[in-house]
Amino acid sequence: MISFECALARIRQAAVTLGTEPVTLRAACDRVLAQDVLADTNVPPFDKSAMDGYACRRADLHKPLRVITTIHAGTVPTVRRIGPGQCVKIMTGALVPPGADCVIMREFVRVLADHTIQFTGRATAPNICRAGEDIRKGALVLRAGTLLKAPHIATLAMLGCTRPRVYRRARVGILATGSELVPPGHTIHGAAIRDSNSHQLMAQVAAVGAVPRHYGIVKDIENKMVARIRTALRACDLLLITGGVSVGDLDLVPDILKALGFTLVCETVAMKPGKPMLFGTHANGNFCCGLPGNPVSTFVAFELLLKPFLYRLMGHDYRPPVIKATLGARLQRKNTGRREAIPVTFTEAGTVVPVEYHSSAHISALCLADGLVFFPVGVSALKKGALVAVHLLGALHPPA
Ligand code: AMP
Ligand code: MG
Repeated sequence: MISFECALARIRQAAVTLGTEPVTLRAACDRVLAQDVLADTNVPPFDKSAMDGYACRRADLHKPLRVITTIHAGTVPTVRRIGPGQCVKIMTGALVPPGADCVIMREFVRVLADHTIQFTGRATAPNICRAGEDIRKGALVLRAGTLLKAPHIATLAMLGCTRPRVYRRARVGILATGSELVPPGHTIHGAAIRDSNSHQLMAQVAAVGAVPRHYGIVKDIENKMVARIRTALRACDLLLITGGVSVGDLDLVPDILKALGFTLVCETVAMKPGKPMLFGTHANGNFCCGLPGNPVSTFVAFELLLKPFLYRLMGHDYRPPVIKATLGARLQRKNTGRREAIPVTFTEAGTVVPVEYHSSAHISALCLADGLVFFPVGVSALKKGALVAVHLLGALHPPA
């Protein structure tokens, strides 16, 4: 058995970055940028009005001002310069002509007769966005390795980078093993269990921007498993196999992977849940992972060990979102040999408390969890009031 930290390091190190491809902006969200992006222009490109109002000289604010023209957004003004005692009526987003050093808001202006106005406010902010104040032409704005979200897409658009080069999405096969498994649409009879892991993993894989592909359910029968694994590996960068990785009579996955030529960088990890956790590399470039069948184990192993791996395949150095919070309840355990994940939720008081959770089969408990708190190896109690690291799981639930 190796430590969680060792398993994480070994699995991360195994990742070999995939190739790259250009994509449209529409397809770029949740992809990882594979190029540095430099600004081809100043942002804003010109001195731009931040308000609907009148552009003028600050020195003239105390006196009536003559409105010499109107400038709308998108029009290049014909006025060369705003002189003493002059102003232009201007709209938000329009180019501010030279000479003006402020835009007074419409709300603080009285219109006098004959194209003349008077500032009625006490003072004004400049209300001019200066050319290049957000981004200087030539600046390095986005680096390769950046995970692209909506603001990055906007930034790429603003800089005219319409076909950003991104890393290829990892193709991830998902195979559920277990003679007890039936698809979720089946009515449960006898000793059948619905296959929830495949669907959970499909969702987890899709959420990191990789391409999941479901290879169905296979019974704990060696030749059937080998055939299905072989098929899946032909079309995938990584194959996730759930179930059959432990020490039961029919836990055949470890031997099958070895027989198929995989080198296992880990087999058991000192983590709870998720102790049996196979990760194999192959000379042909394939990766294969055997996850324990219990759904919480599968979930946690993916979240903690495979997410960083998959992101790294796709060029991104992923760090999980971790925040500090105060424990609102004492946590206690008996066996201290493994790093143990406890599902927790935030309270209205801003503390975290455990959700009701029975065992690694209890996946519905995670539907109420905001994050995971960990018992380190060797620690049997976490005191109420202690500051703990919370590994956030995504959407937060409103406190009950
Ligand atoms: P195993 O890792 O094969 O020993 O399975 C451990 C437990 O997880 C057993 O109770 C299985 O029935 C359950 N299990 C295995 N595979 C799945 C799956 N795909 N979906 C839901 N539960 C599963
Ligand atoms: Mg099994």
